[in-house]
Amino acid sequence: MKMSPQDKKLDEMLRSSTLVAGGFMGSDRRSVFEVIESDAATLEKAGLNASMVARRMRELTAAAQAGLGTWVDVDHGRIRVMSEDYKGVLVCPWGHAGHYPKRITIVECPETGQTLTWSDLNIHLIEAHGFFEGQGSAFRVEPDQAAAMLFEKDWD
Ligand SMILES: [Zn+2]
Repeated sequence: MKMSPQDKKLDEMLRSSTLVAGGFMGSDRRSVFEVIESDAATLEKAGLNASMVARRMRELTAAAQAGLGTWVDVDHGRIRVMSEDYKGVLVCPWGHAGHYPKRITIVECPETGQTLTWSDLNIHLIEAHGFFEGQGSAFRVEPDQAAAMLFEKDWD
């Protein structure tokens, strides 16, 4: 994929550890735009898009906060959520103004033991940029996992 100098700069920034340890791309060798495109296609197959996922994540982070560090049941106990606050803030690598608190939200499905974790910055990256982060990145949100865990769906 041919990238403009500006796109290239963004891609390099996402791979560097300037903003977060290990960067946003993990070991992914695709360009950031290819990652975004491929994740959008995965979500589309589940009848979802990035803003629907981001909205749901925001709701769950709010629900988790009410638990003040303890598990909160959601969807009648199908999943449970918890949030943890860390010192510091994160910024958007696209250069958006604003700081995102280092809050981590954990979702667990007690029946399967499956978990999904995200930061407030993940929600912004997904909502504003459709970016779920690269494969192997510490905070990548797998779109198919998010689709399965965050939405009550009939999977037949
Ligand atoms: Zn942004």
